[in-house]
Amino acid sequence: MKRQHSVVGLLTLVATVCFTPVLAQTCKDADLLLRNGHIITMDSAKRIVSSMAVRDGRILALGDDDVLAGCGSSRTQMLDLQGQTVLPGLIDVHTHAIEWVKTLLRDEIDAGYPTVHAISDITQAIGNRTATLPQGQWIVGSGWDDSKLAEHRYITRQDLDSTSAGHPVYLKHVSGHMGVANSAALKLANITKATQDPQGGVIEHDASGEPTGILKDTAMGLIAGVLPGDPPDIDVRAARVVSEKAAEVGLTTIHDIYISPEEMRGYQDAHRRGWLKIRVQMSPRIGSIADAEKLAAMGVHTGFGDDVLKFGAAKMFADGGMGARTIAIYPPGVIGEPDNLGVLRWTPTEMQKAHLLAAGAGWQLETHAIGDRAIDEVLDSYAAVIKQLALKDPRFRIVHAGISTPAVQKRMHDLNVVVDGNPPFVYWIGSWFQKYGPERVRWSYPAKSYIENGIIEAAGSDVSVTPINPWWGIWAAVVRRDLKSGQILAPEERIPIEQALTLYTRNGAYAGFEEDRKGALEPGKLADFIVIDRDVLNVPADELKDVRVLQTFVGGRSVYDRLSDRPVQ
Ligand SMILES: [Zn+2]
Repeated sequence: MKRQHSVVGLLTLVATVCFTPVLAQTCKDADLLLRNGHIITMDSAKRIVSSMAVRDGRILALGDDDVLAGCGSSRTQMLDLQGQTVLPGLIDVHTHAIEWVKTLLRDEIDAGYPTVHAISDITQAIGNRTATLPQGQWIVGSGWDDSKLAEHRYITRQDLDSTSAGHPVYLKHVSGHMGVANSAALKLANITKATQDPQGGVIEHDASGEPTGILKDTAMGLIAGVLPGDPPDIDVRAARVVSEKAAEVGLTTIHDIYISPEEMRGYQDAHRRGWLKIRVQMSPRIGSIADAEKLAAMGVHTGFGDDVLKFGAAKMFADGGMGARTIAIYPPGVIGEPDNLGVLRWTPTEMQKAHLLAAGAGWQLETHAIGDRAIDEVLDSYAAVIKQLALKDPRFRIVHAGISTPAVQKRMHDLNVVVDGNPPFVYWIGSWFQKYGPERVRWSYPAKSYIENGIIEAAGSDVSVTPINPWWGIWAAVVRRDLKSGQILAPEERIPIEQALTLYTRNGAYAGFEEDRKGALEPGKLADFIVIDRDVLNVPADELKDVRVLQTFVGGRSVYDRLSDRPVQ
């Protein structure tokens, strides 16, 4: 024992002697010095240290308090963490954050769980609005989820007509893949018995052939054209609120997906005014070949911008959503609808053409595909594009990859595809998986299999499908409990907390081509980190959803401080 002690002592001495002079040269005059913390670096050595020095927005050094003591000077801001836990800033690679915030700024009706539990709650809210609204004005809402309504069915135009007093009404489903319009709204959009389904969309009809009011996927576009316009400054205001809400929950980078030109302008203007507290990757939309041609002709591509605001991947949709029962699957169909194999938005030839245009112009691709038939269509196209352009490290992404069977996982691995997975879906909308049968539930959002099969998964809330707070997703990845049934869905796919955090840190950085500057706390990387209220590596799993962020730093600057700001709900 004695000999062992002396060897350890000698090694410690050598390490201190060798390390300190090197550090002393490089680590000085820090802007900020964190001490007395429990700093989980998420680096490849899984180091946990007590001190971190920051200068010019980047991490200067990490180590023990005494080793880093010399990094400070008289001007250094000292932060005594009093033992609190620090993590790298979290990364959400799939949000519709600006779109979500605009629903708040427009004061749309919140038709979502837990505000609403029955269709009558929604019709009552509509009735209340009509009391103060001038005749003919729109009533718009979002967030309804038939699986969480007492009636367990879609809302119909007749439901809405009953209290809307002639006002046009349109309510978006929480999935984003469906909406319901009342009779006045259908009339304004010229949707009648005779209107044909657009490619990739469904206008639902009742037994007599009349529209029910339900519009799925691209059919929602028929209403979009007649909805009331927004005030011109809504996007810049929304971008500001997005960054505040993200900072509150510990997100230091988000990817905002499938955004419009107005929304991109909003982010740019907010950035120019210094309003963006966090970092954003903007993913422009490709909804048609013409969109792909325009994007390719612009002469900019993925990565253009700076460390606050840049272009991410170009986004397309292959199929629909589970909530709207429009994901593209192989037989058998949805339970109770054996012929329903979902919708595909693109023919294989058109998809490949659009992918080739965008990737040829330097865009990373990300394509929404939930059903395995849709995933296969996307993988066929990705394989052809990678080969044709001889791409070395394209990191093409499959967004959601909901039904990820062993067969599609093998193909994803072989093509080095990144999965933009959604751990919180298992909790919030796990009941939707069950409409697709137990075999598909088994392969729904399979985080453990991805790790075992060497597929890199990053994580996204898909806000407003689930809340922006990433702790729901971190918790759900560990626990996999479905909200409605209370069941653990595919328990073999649960992952330990360290791996759940990896999805929201290192893997998020990788998905965005930013692993050189984000995702772990290491010297040289951006000083994006959060202080949280408990040691997440050592709490009961069920507490992970309750984690609160105390302080958020982006580039070494405090952008949210719970003690001085309004608490998050
Ligand atoms: Zn989405």
